[in-house]
Amino acid sequence: MTKTRPPGSAPPMDPRTRVQFLPGIGPNRALAFERLGIVTLEHLVRHYPRTWLDASKTVAIKDLRPGELLTVIGEVKHAAALRTRGGRGDFAATVRDGTGTLPLYFFGQSWLARSLTPGTRVVVSGELSGGFERQMLNPMFEVLEGDLEDTLHAGRLVPVHALTRGVTARGMRQAVRRALDLVAAQIADPVPAEVASAHALPPLGSALTDLHFPHDAAALEAARARLAFEELFLLQMVMGIRRRALAEEGRALALTGPGELAARVRAALPFTLTEGQDAAVRDITADLARPRPMHRLVVGDVGSGKTVVALLAACAALEAGQQAALLAPTEILARQHGASLTRHATAAGVPVAVLTGASTPGERRAIQARLSANEPLLVVGTHALLEERLQFPSLALAIVDEQHRFGVRQRAALAAKGVLPHMLVLTATPIPRTLQLAWFGDLDLSVIRGRPAGRGRLVTRVTDEGKFPQVIEFMAKELAQGRQAYVVVPTIEEGARADLKAAETEVQRLRGQPLLARYQLGLLHGRMKPDEKQAVMDAFRKGELHVLVATTVIEVGVDVPNATLMVVENAERFGLTQLHQLRGRVGRGEHRSVCVLVAGALAGARSRERLAIMATTDDGFELAEADLRLRGHGELWGTRQAGLPDLKLADLARDEPVLARAQEAAAAVVAADPQLMGAPHAVLRAVLRERFKEALELALAG
Ligand code: ADP
Ligand code: MG
Repeated sequence: MTKTRPPGSAPPMDPRTRVQFLPGIGPNRALAFERLGIVTLEHLVRHYPRTWLDASKTVAIKDLRPGELLTVIGEVKHAAALRTRGGRGDFAATVRDGTGTLPLYFFGQSWLARSLTPGTRVVVSGELSGGFERQMLNPMFEVLEGDLEDTLHAGRLVPVHALTRGVTARGMRQAVRRALDLVAAQIADPVPAEVASAHALPPLGSALTDLHFPHDAAALEAARARLAFEELFLLQMVMGIRRRALAEEGRALALTGPGELAARVRAALPFTLTEGQDAAVRDITADLARPRPMHRLVVGDVGSGKTVVALLAACAALEAGQQAALLAPTEILARQHGASLTRHATAAGVPVAVLTGASTPGERRAIQARLSANEPLLVVGTHALLEERLQFPSLALAIVDEQHRFGVRQRAALAAKGVLPHMLVLTATPIPRTLQLAWFGDLDLSVIRGRPAGRGRLVTRVTDEGKFPQVIEFMAKELAQGRQAYVVVPTIEEGARADLKAAETEVQRLRGQPLLARYQLGLLHGRMKPDEKQAVMDAFRKGELHVLVATTVIEVGVDVPNATLMVVENAERFGLTQLHQLRGRVGRGEHRSVCVLVAGALAGARSRERLAIMATTDDGFELAEADLRLRGHGELWGTRQAGLPDLKLADLARDEPVLARAQEAAAAVVAADPQLMGAPHAVLRAVLRERFKEALELALAG
């Protein structure tokens, strides 16, 4: 519901007008707004609130009670600017409403004396301060000139915007309100009219107005849902366009061998594939047999056995006389993959070579020579393989492990190395369905549920810092039986140095434990050089180190079956999905394994509850759903990692129905007008090209 502005209000303006031309904002404040990315009036109305304070409940002064944000309306009685001993200018006033008197105190705002003069009618929103005195400190307020409906700063759902130096909360609200009045109805809607009407969306202008200044919770939710639809629709347009571009990208080699090489590898494996692995291999084999590049994502829980699936895929390429690459995110993983693949592959006569930053120039030249000779070869390495001047004359399949997605650039780099290769992405982050749709809508998907049988049991316990001695006692018992343990400390935000300190402090603490005195403890953290890391990992794998203290660098993929204990310190700082990944480092051998999640001294009741979920299920997909509900998609799956802009309003935990509608709408638009050349799609096209430049780089031409 848009409020009609009083007659005589300013005529509409072009949304592309710069904010400095907004009444009340000059060039200097315009610079401050620019720091928030706000250059034009359109940017201003698209500067969505971060949250809203519900100050819509109005009471009589006598009915004020502490602990709640409440609003009173009254008249300023006394008002005085005060100078504190420290030289700060404060402001004090009282407000009266016929039922009582309320003292207000504003720190450092003596200038308020000019507007809150005795006799002024004001609306004041705040919480009573604690203590004996019934008063409000720094409340929100507004001089009441018209209706309570027209207020911006108090007595309503008050929007809270991101601010910067030089832009106050009040200044922002005023600017947004003015911009809304001038341009809201003029903002070009990226959602095509046919979609808006099919989905009965309210007009964009009123949604924007209601989002910033909603009359009530229902209006706010309607506006939010409308704009969330827009966000998800744009994202699904990106996915749809990419999917289409991928399909039309060009030809790939159809790999239609008899599958003898894969059959030999399977026969040589010391185990049989799980149902999930089998199904994934079938999906991949079918894709590879087509003359179009495969773009498939394999999602499988930690330890579900994705590596061997990758190997079987590679067999199809090698059998056809082609080459394949497996790219890992870190050196450690690249070498580990190299080692385990070689183990499974050599028995069956599959040629594998490992190329990492630590390879000598001689090794490098030898591999290049084999590649240049068009020898069928599976090369395992880090992502650096793509950037290097390595020639891959017959690369038919590129596999990326534990990587979120291929960027357009990476694909281009790969394509430049040969014909268009088939692409396979493996990820060990079990992704809830909504996220699969939202972020990977352009890829085909194989989900491996379930894990190989015959693993030792994995038990998860939640405890707290106070039980540290018992944890050490338990660790000593495991070590005495020849097992090994990980201790993980959270990565600290301030950067690598603090990170290092946290890990070092923990090592020292453990080295000081008499029960651990006869064991070797190693340290692994993000600041170490790759070969230092490798040396520590090797020592741990060989059993020369008994305990490995690490920051989350070990999170992904490390495989040491003899390790049976995973202790996570300050476990409350991790997401459930991340904890699940960590826990996946143990339980890989035949022994019973234990994961101990230690809640820090400051962990609250809610974090403990969250940790308790870990003990109830070892299904990564279930946890991911729980994590999504508890922490939101932002934490679970960084959108930036996916090369996509953040969702500001859409919440994938609860907007699944909105996402489904957005996807359907986007699919229809892409099908009808893939290049968006039609006039009804002009705005959509322009917005996509501007906002998703990177993601659409090659997909939306011209
Ligand atoms: P992830 O999916 O986490 O990458 P890996 O591929 O590293 O898992 O496999 C974990 C371990 O399980 C490896 O030691 C691998 O050899 C083993 N493995 C894989 N598939 C099976 C299976 N079907 N049965 C038993 N063990 C398996
Ligand atoms: Mg793996």
